[in-house]
Amino acid sequence: MHMCNFCSTFAAAKVFRNNRTLVKNMDISIIVPLFNEAESLPKLYEWIARVMKENKFSYEVIFVNDGSTDDSWDVIEELKIKNEKLKEGIVRGICFRRNYGKSAALYCGFKAAQGDVVITMDADLQDSPDEIPELYRMITEDGFDLVSGWKQKRFDNKLTKNLPSKLFNATARRVTGIPLHDMNCGLKAYRKEVVKNIEVFSEMHRYIPYLAKNAGFTKIGEKVVQHRKREFGTSKFGLNRFVNGYLDLMTLWFLNKFGKQPMHFFGLVGSLMFFIGFVAVLIVGSMKLYALSNGVPAMLVGVNPYFHIAILMMILGCMLFLAGFLAELVIRNSPSRNDYLIKEEI
Ligand code: UDP
Ligand code: MG
Repeated sequence: MHMCNFCSTFAAAKVFRNNRTLVKNMDISIIVPLFNEAESLPKLYEWIARVMKENKFSYEVIFVNDGSTDDSWDVIEELKIKNEKLKEGIVRGICFRRNYGKSAALYCGFKAAQGDVVITMDADLQDSPDEIPELYRMITEDGFDLVSGWKQKRFDNKLTKNLPSKLFNATARRVTGIPLHDMNCGLKAYRKEVVKNIEVFSEMHRYIPYLAKNAGFTKIGEKVVQHRKREFGTSKFGLNRFVNGYLDLMTLWFLNKFGKQPMHFFGLVGSLMFFIGFVAVLIVGSMKLYALSNGVPAMLVGVNPYFHIAILMMILGCMLFLAGFLAELVIRNSPSRNDYLIKEEI
């Protein structure tokens, strides 16, 4: 059949339009990391599904079972079967062989997510799904890359959670330069591009906004969210999270500042120490020579404490310099040494 140019273009446009309707993007992916939260899951899912339906969102819920030893996975399987009958949204599940931690669960959830906006929330019903529509709006309409929840009124133990958390957040604000009140809030919303371009590992889930900022996603917002008492089970994080959290913050800060050029830190500190030690040795030596030439009694250089301090400074200076140099050699071999996030090209 012959088709004129105009007709064929029109036909193509139609197919294209049809294709576009066929591959309509998914609005929201909700990632729920969980460890032994079987009792909370049915209520949480029902609540999410209700909010999604009321707001006519297309969505998926990705439950990441972080090695639970209770019935959590059975419950997720049941939810999936129940959901398939309803034909609303999609339920997906990822089941770890053992407990790897919340960061690992989020990492796998982020990899799997397909929605334009990705929401993370805890499984213990402490975060409210009613917040999702506004979080979605802030990403899609206000243009935020990331919106973090702020549990302004917390329903946790005051002494073990609320107070240390205030101190933790004050430190995190200073170090990261991100003015968030609740950096570690489990309820967060992200533009899809953000989660596909950051890598959460170890226990870095506490600092995802910092990871995002370091990757170049700087429009970070905050929304006051409702917080609820834990209905079932117990908290999975003890007081050691503050020690680990502090160390992780230092690691991230250091990596961000000197991760690509360690010599700028080790080389500088090492050189400075060596220089101070060298000058001190010169002073100790010349004072001894001066004393000898003038016949003044002076202690042996070998028993002079300043001499030992100076030598120690020179040795430490050399070691630091060498550490920086070795780190530079390691980075040269890193596969990500030339990974840059390109925003757009014309
Ligand atoms: N969680 C997880 N893996 C872990 C620990 C916790 O997936 O190793 C999940 C947990 O099931 C919950 C969320 O992370 O959905 C937050 O944990 P929790 O409520 O215990 O923290 P808290 O609210 O007490 O800070
Ligand atoms: Mg909780």
